[in-house]
Order: sequence, then C-alpha cells, then structure tokens
Amino acid sequence: MPIILRAHHLLCFLGFIGAGYNKEFVENFERVYKSVYLENLPIKIVSFPDEICMYCPNLNAAECRFEQKVRMYDEKVIELLKFYGISDLEDVLPSEAYSALKQALPQQLESICRTCEWFVLGFCRESFHRKDLWKNG
Ligand code: SF4
Repeated sequence: MPIILRAHHLLCFLGFIGAGYNKEFVENFERVYKSVYLENLPIKIVSFPDEICMYCPNLNAAECRFEQKVRMYDEKVIELLKFYGISDLEDVLPSEAYSALKQALPQQLESICRTCEWFVLGFCRESFHRKDLWKNG
C-alpha cells in the first residue's frame, strides 16, 4: 500500500532540518520523511490530512486548522506534477515526483510556499536552490 501524503509535504521534506511543532510531531515527521524522501517508497498524493498531519497539534477532528491555505498549496503542487507529466497520483515513486517538481525550480515553488509560516525562516527557500537535496537530482 502506498503511503498517503499531502502533496505540499513533498516540498516540506526538502526544507526539513529537524524542527516542528513538538517532539511527537517531529518524530513522526522524521519517520515519514525517511520512508518517502530517503527510501523512495511509493506514495499516494492527496490534498487532505495525511500520516504527517495525524501527529500535528493543528489537526482538528478531520481537518487542519489552516485547511483552506494548505489545500491551496496541495492543489498547486498537484497542478505542477500533472503539468510535468505525473497524471496518476495513486501510486507514485517520490523520485518521479521530485524529477517533475524540479522543473519548476525555484520561482514556481517559492510562489506556492511564500505564505507558509515556516518559509519565512529561510531554510526551505535555500533548499529549492540546492540541487543536491532533490531526489534523482
Ligand atoms: S499544519 Fe496542517 S497540513 Fe501541516 S502537518 Fe499540521 S495538520 Fe497537516
């Protein structure tokens, strides 16, 4: 079974430096990060709460506190994935997704993330410019 992943979390992995909302969140994020970003296990790309959200203090019942905003990030990432050739989001290798997103570097990705509270800290922006962080880069 593929790992369920919100589309915009593919971008969050690039900027991950071990920070997060709390210890539980970071430990779980790291677990999913390893499976997806490092081990390249298949994912199903969605625009609703995923395995990362399950341990997030911002998850209220079935929705993120910022659902409207984060869903917009998801939809923009999905739009780019489709534009660059990933049409079936049900069973995707992260390396394929990153190869597609890499073609949108860096301005299109920055424009997706610029309203995120983490983006203003700078390490995500930096990661968009660091080609060595991209799987299959
Ligand atoms: S802030 Fe929202 S989208 Fe991000 S991990 Fe938490 S619940 Fe999920």
